[in-house]
This record gives sequence, structure tokens and C-alpha cells, in this order.
Amino acid sequence: MEHVRDLTLLPKAHLHLHFTGSMRPSTLLELADKYGVRLPDALTAGEPPKLRATDERGWFRFQRLYDAARSCLREPEDIRRLVREAAEEDVRDGSGWLEIQVDPTSYAPLLGGMIPAVEIILDAVDAASRETGLGMRVLIAANRMKHPLDARTLARLAVRYADRGIVGFGLSNDERRGMARDFDRAFAIAREGGLLAAPHGGELTGPSSVRDCLDDLHAARIGHGVRAAEDPRLLKRLADRQITCEVCPASNVALGVYERPEDVPLRTLFEAGVPMALGADDPLLFGSRLAAQYEIARRHHAFTDAELAELARQSVRGSAAPEEVKAKLLDGIEHWLNG
Ligand SMILES: [Zn+2]
Repeated sequence: MEHVRDLTLLPKAHLHLHFTGSMRPSTLLELADKYGVRLPDALTAGEPPKLRATDERGWFRFQRLYDAARSCLREPEDIRRLVREAAEEDVRDGSGWLEIQVDPTSYAPLLGGMIPAVEIILDAVDAASRETGLGMRVLIAANRMKHPLDARTLARLAVRYADRGIVGFGLSNDERRGMARDFDRAFAIAREGGLLAAPHGGELTGPSSVRDCLDDLHAARIGHGVRAAEDPRLLKRLADRQITCEVCPASNVALGVYERPEDVPLRTLFEAGVPMALGADDPLLFGSRLAAQYEIARRHHAFTDAELAELARQSVRGSAAPEEVKAKLLDGIEHWLNG
């Protein structure tokens, strides 16, 4: 029998990780204690909360938990700690490149405004990258629940800091609210400024939301995108254009997008030739990090080591990493498989 290769040693790029959602549960408890914040029981139970985000109440509950966790990040040192620990966890899971996404709006009031918030976050990313050796960049994500004009402001801010480590522009929160088209101007600003367009789509709603991301926002990557599996023509389009879907299996199951890990259509996307970058989304709430997503592919979808190596290559190719970083990671993947 073939020996089992360690998935934490498989070099990969992590392209779908939210800022607060990356926090270690133990850090959340310590910060809540520091600020006297009473956390909802679901965040202190020691196991991931049960969430059903496929209905609006479930999604609202998920957002409430997220907001409660975010309210424990108040000072620059908390931000530095969060980012450093996210980098440490990623390194432990074999990540060689991390793109973390954040909506600075949420942190601005406590950090002295939008610009100071962005600068604190980018400084924290620089410091964490130096301390851990992990290559890191930032995506600024606008919030679908807010006004499209807010998204434009964010896009301008993101472009302004492009040379300081911002590589992409995203759009998150409830896909059932608002149209992707409402955010087309914000995405045009981001793209014209050289940023990668990476909105969420095809998670809570079906293939049409992925098509909207392609048609209206000219997405180069799709956050999630798994629901494209319901439309063969859309799969072909994603494959032809090599649009990477940032697929987050544990998140999909935790939020009730799919009932069981084996129901996440990893095989369908893979066989259709749609590039994927597996991601953890919000490990704080979903209870598993990067390597665990590859374990799901192995255990529940019978991905062979050669196929897992191909998934890792897809994550690297879909990243905004410089070519020399990509080449080094791709080499490492070869070594994992054949070394
Ligand atoms: Zn996400």
C-alpha cells in the first residue's frame, strides 16, 4: 500500500481567509477577557457553533457571531496578534502564500478611521510575513449589505495602497441581497487600478450569481463558486477562462450549503477542469483550517495524492504571488509528490 503523504507538508496557497474569522478560538477568549466582552455561548462552547445560513435567520446569526468576535479587536496590538497567528497557523498547514481579506470599515471606528485602519492592517501583514517567512497579501472586501458608494470608496482606498500589499478587491456577505451589478463601478475602479476582482458568488445562491460575477464584475476569481456545479455550461466557461474558484468545503457544510462533506461538488469542478483553491473561510467559526480542506478532498472524495498535488498547483497558479514565489511552491509540490 502506498504510504500516506502528510497534507500539512504539501505546499499550497491560501486564497480565501477572512480577517476576524482567522482568529484562534483561544485568542478570542483572551481578548474577550481583556475587554470584558461577554461572548455568545456559541463562541465559548469549545466546539464550532451549529449554523444554518441557507435561510436568512441562520445567516443573520452567523453574522452576529462574527460581529461579536470582531468587537474584541480594538487596538493595533490585537490586529498584529491576529495576523501573526493567522500566518503561524497557515505555515503549520503547509501554506506558502496567504491572501487574507478584510473590510477595513468594520475596524475603522476603533483604530482612528479608515486610513489608519488600513495602515495598521498592512503593517501587521508586513510584520507577520517577516516573522514567519510566509508570503502574504491583502484583499479589500466590500460588503454587499452596504451602499455601492461605500464600495467605491473602498475600491479607491484599495488601489491607493496597491503598492503596499493589496492585490485584490472582493465582495462579501449575503448574496441574496443586492445585485452584483450594483457594485460594477467599484470593481471597475479596482480593476483599472490593477487589482484582481474576487467577489463571493455561487455559495448561498445558484449559478446565476456566479454568472453575474463574471458578466458584471469581470471576476478573475470567485469566492466559493461551488454552485456553478449545477450548470455544465457555466463550468465550461470557468474552465475555458481558468477562473479559480476559492472552494471552502468545511465552511459549506458548517453553513448548510451542503449537508455533508461528500456532497460538496469537488469532483464535479475538478473533472470539469475548473481550477480550485481550497480555503478555510472562517476557521474560528467553522473549526478547521487549511490542511483540513485537503483532508476532506482525500477522505470524502477519494482524491489521490497526484490529484491533491494538482489542487495545490491550482491554488498557487490562481494566486497573486510573484512568479518566483509560484515557481518555488510548484517545485515544492513536485517534491512532495515525487521527492
Ligand atoms: Zn468568504
